[in-house]
Amino acid sequence: MTHTLKQAADLLATGKTSATELATDYLGKITAANGALNAFLTIDRSKTLAMAKAADDARAKGQAGPLTGVPIAHKDIFCAEGWKTTCGSKILENFVSPYDAHVIAQCSAAGLVTLGRTNMDEFAMGSSNENSAFGPVKNPWDLNAVPGGSSGGSAAAVAARLTPAATATDTGGSIRQPAAFCGVTGLKPTYGIVSRYGMVAYASSLDQGGPIAQTAEDCALLLNVMAGHDVRDSTSLELAKEDYTRDLNQPLKGLRIGLPKEYFGAGLAGDVAASIEAAIAEYKKLGAEIVEISLPRTELAIPSYYVIAPAEASSNLSRFDGVRYGHRAAEYSDLNDMYERSRAEGFGWETKRRILTGTYVLSHGYYDAYYLKAQKVRRLLTEDFLKGFGQCDVIAAPAAPTVAWNIGEKSNDPVANYLADIYTLGVNLAGLPALAHPIGFGSNGRPVGLQLIGNYFAEAKLLNAAHQFQQVTDWHTKAPTL
Ligand code: GLN
Repeated sequence: MTHTLKQAADLLATGKTSATELATDYLGKITAANGALNAFLTIDRSKTLAMAKAADDARAKGQAGPLTGVPIAHKDIFCAEGWKTTCGSKILENFVSPYDAHVIAQCSAAGLVTLGRTNMDEFAMGSSNENSAFGPVKNPWDLNAVPGGSSGGSAAAVAARLTPAATATDTGGSIRQPAAFCGVTGLKPTYGIVSRYGMVAYASSLDQGGPIAQTAEDCALLLNVMAGHDVRDSTSLELAKEDYTRDLNQPLKGLRIGLPKEYFGAGLAGDVAASIEAAIAEYKKLGAEIVEISLPRTELAIPSYYVIAPAEASSNLSRFDGVRYGHRAAEYSDLNDMYERSRAEGFGWETKRRILTGTYVLSHGYYDAYYLKAQKVRRLLTEDFLKGFGQCDVIAAPAAPTVAWNIGEKSNDPVANYLADIYTLGVNLAGLPALAHPIGFGSNGRPVGLQLIGNYFAEAKLLNAAHQFQQVTDWHTKAPTL
């Protein structure tokens, strides 16, 4: 049996199953499929079963919350006490976190049971999951295809029904693009909604945690757990807790969906465009009105992001120096040599490339020309979005220009990977919320996702739209045969 988060919660609430039974069942599925998929980096049967037993005990005592006992997987970027937290990097290969990230603590407090830790691109840098130090994740729809990245393990695990839902992070598309490539639903919240405390930092002004699940309803349920103010993250927004399921059943009549003309030009694959057209027709049937909008500076998102993100990464990753935690070279002559060897051995190529780029754009003489310029462009891109929201309630766009590509196809061409991020980066630069949900399959049978972008704090509206779509379509129920 496989379940959505909601179905698992209902089965637990009505006593038709137990947390232990669910955990055992999913651990069995993971063990059977992970050899082929490589979606999980760490499984710890005894830890998982102990959490499940605690959830069952809580329920027996009448202390269960709505999600107590529901199994979930965590992206290996969230520090979890007593669990190996590698962030997909050799430099953290043996790092066992001494504390919980805010997201992990919230999930545990809600009684969710951790099934394991999902694979990812090293330090969340990538869009194909091929940058993991622990091998690529395979797309469960086609083992020759990438699952997308950086949250490829989380998306593949949900698609393969190895977990009802998973946590993930999105710095430039890493929730939405893998969700699209794997045929599942994922939400990147407004910047500051989900605490970054204990989430290994890549580009701090862009990083945001969020859920990946089969349905929009599940994303809402999991976001209810993940979101919330946290004093330990200075950019965590001081907002009252909200219920992201509250608007799921609102009718869509009169919803104005904006289609940015720059997102539908050359470069968008024909099969992706056709699926989007069909999905928009479905939204129209639900009562939505379509308006054409313009986001004129869209093409500047790639150069702006690929200056700002590496700049922040070069600073954030300086903490991996072989001294405090992580890999340390076995032999070295002095302190500097120790730093150099430890980092040379511990980081992969893409991470090194970003550190070099970031250090360069921040260096004296180049700072104004690159970093400062990129920040100004970031502001202009944000203004484009805000202007767009003057004409519409949500923006519909592709999540990626194509369906999932083949493993190895772009692995020697970093720029080809960067260009494929064109439709997702602007959202992070502006700090906006956006989700991706499945809308069909491309000509080679690989999933296509639609991206819906909202104005600040429009999570409930985005989830409402996707949920209504999922009431009249069944793309989100399709699962690959393994
Ligand atoms: N593909 C983008 C990058 O490599 C986005 C990754 C992410 O969102 N973590 O930076």
